Amino acid sequence: MGLPPTRLAEALIGSARRARAATTMTATTLSGARVIATHRGNLDEMNLTGSCFCGVVSYALSGKPLLSAYCHCTNCQRLTGCPFVHTIHFPASAFTWTHAARLDAFVIPDRPWKTRFRCPTCGACVASANSKAGKYSVGRAARGALEAWDAVRPTAHIFYGTRMLDVPDALGKWEGYEGASARLE
Ligand SMILES: [Zn+2]
Ligand SMILES: [Zn+2]
Repeated sequence: MGLPPTRLAEALIGSARRARAATTMTATTLSGARVIATHRGNLDEMNLTGSCFCGVVSYALSGKPLLSAYCHCTNCQRLTGCPFVHTIHFPASAFTWTHAARLDAFVIPDRPWKTRFRCPTCGACVASANSKAGKYSVGRAARGALEAWDAVRPTAHIFYGTRMLDVPDALGKWEGYEGASARLE
């Protein structure tokens, strides 16, 4: 991301401290979750698979994402201990769990429509289901085939008003969702 390593480390440490103070959840991280893109023909036929850090929990996605962005909202910050996350939204119909193990789930009390699923073994948050919007979100795309990466490449920084650090890249910076809120930069 081109961030100065020392600034990023300071932000990560500060964020982790705040997260520990703000929640009683078991310590977890998103850093192990990964999305692997495979490419079969054109983007409409693209399938994505993802898993937690340890591989016990996995899922598959079909088609193109509705949104792919770096999210700087305070929920993402507090839940992950990271200054921002890469989130990718798909219609719920595009998402399928592909593992047999049980899932741990967490719901923020004032946002009962959104369930965040975690691996019970490694603790990585692998996906969230939003029943109000009819969407699933996954995170942490790893670069797969270059063409497939283009389909899940972040297009914006969202909820940038609550950022913990500036990100001097060329992507648009938005107060809320891309194209549906004030553009900050
Ligand atoms: Zn796991
Ligand atoms: Zn967020």
